[in-house]
Amino acid sequence: MSVNISAYQQLVKQLSDSSIALVAVSKIKPVSDIKALYDLGQRDFGENYVQELVDKQSQLPGDIRWHFIGHLQSNKVKYIAPFVHLIHGVDSINLLKEINKQALKNDRVIDCLLQVHVAKEETKFGLDEGELHDVMMEVPALKNVQVKGLMGMASFSDDETLVRNEFRQLRKLFGQLDQPEILNLKPEILSMGMSGDYKMAIEEGSTMVRVGSLLFGARV
Ligand SMILES: *Cc1c(COP(=O)(O)O)cnc(C)c1O
Repeated sequence: MSVNISAYQQLVKQLSDSSIALVAVSKIKPVSDIKALYDLGQRDFGENYVQELVDKQSQLPGDIRWHFIGHLQSNKVKYIAPFVHLIHGVDSINLLKEINKQALKNDRVIDCLLQVHVAKEETKFGLDEGELHDVMMEVPALKNVQVKGLMGMASFSDDETLVRNEFRQLRKLFGQLDQPEILNLKPEILSMGMSGDYKMAIEEGSTMVRVGSLLFGARV
């Protein structure tokens, strides 16, 4: 087993001081690794692949809160709609509409984060500012989704200034989301920060970090 228990305990301690949520990113890692952190009290886990998530969910305790953090294809929403806790990577109106449709079928409301593209040098999924605005226009009509905030990834770079500025950009957009007249918009979550940059993300206002390799070891 490659789970780094002491790194986990340190991280939980750091985060609890500032009440920042931890999503333990368990993609590609075995169910036994998830169970090891579960036994220490971890309940939020993040996965990137639909089939893998569905398989793991069926084998693990029912009180785990499953976060879908990968790129979600519309035709696969139906598989996770019955149980998913939070979908982080919503990057199109069509996807949000499909989530709404599947949530309705399952007689529930699904919490979502809109993914914003801020990284400079990589092609990553996400909405630009204009597209974010367009998606927000559709939200009031989609009553079986609740938009809880934004998710983003900074550039994978040693350039601290660049990464910091990208987190700042996300924080700024997050701060502009609030529109109390939209009942299914509750901007409480800013999901940013991974193993390599979570400290800086927290300094820049993250409320939820998604940490994988620091806890579970490198992925091959
Ligand atoms: C894999 C992944 C993470 C975790 O990355 P680590 O560097 O292993 O902490 C976080 N967020 C997303 C969207 C991911 O795909």
